Amino acid sequence: MSNSFHPPQRILLGPGPSNVEPRVLQAMLAPLLGHMDPVYFQCMDEIQGLLRSVFETGNRVTFSISGTGGAGMEACLANLIEEDEEVVVCVNGFFGQRVAELAERWGARVLRVEAEWGQPLDMQMVRDTFKKSKARIVTMVHAETSTGMRNPIEELKSLRDVRDAVLIVDAVTSLGAHPVGIDRNGIDASYSCSQKGIGAPPGLAPVTFSERALDKIRSRKKPPRTWYLDIQILDKYWSSDRVYHHTAPALMNYALREALAIIMEEGLETRWQRHERTSRAFVSGVEGMGLEMLVAPEHRLWSLNAVKIPPGADDARVRNHLLTRHNIEIGSGFGTLKGKIWRVGLMGHSSSEANVLYFLTALEQTLREQGFEVPQGRGPTAAREVYKKG
Ligand code: PLP
Repeated sequence: MSNSFHPPQRILLGPGPSNVEPRVLQAMLAPLLGHMDPVYFQCMDEIQGLLRSVFETGNRVTFSISGTGGAGMEACLANLIEEDEEVVVCVNGFFGQRVAELAERWGARVLRVEAEWGQPLDMQMVRDTFKKSKARIVTMVHAETSTGMRNPIEELKSLRDVRDAVLIVDAVTSLGAHPVGIDRNGIDASYSCSQKGIGAPPGLAPVTFSERALDKIRSRKKPPRTWYLDIQILDKYWSSDRVYHHTAPALMNYALREALAIIMEEGLETRWQRHERTSRAFVSGVEGMGLEMLVAPEHRLWSLNAVKIPPGADDARVRNHLLTRHNIEIGSGFGTLKGKIWRVGLMGHSSSEANVLYFLTALEQTLREQGFEVPQGRGPTAAREVYKKG
């Protein structure tokens, strides 16, 4: 054992984390400040402003939770759900299922609207379920990381024609890669993570709450059972009151601040276009190799690309080969899609032409070595064509 840990430099193309720009890592080397230092408060204010821009919201209560995306999910559900109330949960993958399970843990009577994994939700079914219920909360996972499916969050606000409702959206695999449009889409509460489209290391969960969501929280009969994730108490630390709640992970927040600043320097639109083009090039490349995507084009994510494993290919052997010989991490399928798909994340700093071309070349080599007939060079050539056309 050496005295220090020397991890290899991987190309992170899994479902997250994605690679981090050196500038973001550099930001973590800045001097540590205490969590009640006025200079650290400036950093917090900047994070709030930048997060509002990236979430596309004017919500005052917008900040980072100390914890990963799951902590953001728990914060939204624990604060908004009251014991025994009905909640409509859209489920077409592993993370929709997790929202349903967590909502139940926080006391909800969950009304699941389900579709098969990798298939679109039936929005009429969502509407009918909501109409028949007494639910005042509806949840949807924007980017279903388990399948590569983009769900139609922009259609949720029409549910308010039926009854007023708090709309909760999981933006863990979309924020920073896809437009989320919190205000435009009438979303009341949303959570994400630091390690995917945002481009910082894992450890923080950006969240945002609208006034409608805060009104629901303020009118609770009892305070939420969670103390650590109580949004109203956390807000007293993030707002001008600056009431101590917990010791903030300051270095992580420096990294988040830097990553968000990079996003705004690139420009949101430009960043979304980069993710769209990278994904299009990737799809063109894998299809050029004779492989197929899981999700229909109109529902596909740019951030997470699910490729069907060709019959006869050894899922684990291919992934292991990519990791150990080419330093590329990709994700496996899980749940009903275990052994059926590879999940290739192209998010944040990892969403680049160089990564797409390197991955396609490595996958081609790996499959050929394992006896597959893959047309030589066709994948990378098809991807390059997309970039040439723009
Ligand atoms: N929601 C979605 C859609 C996710 O993809 C993930 C993780 O990948 C989570 C929630 C949980 O996030 P974390 O693993 O950062 O806790």
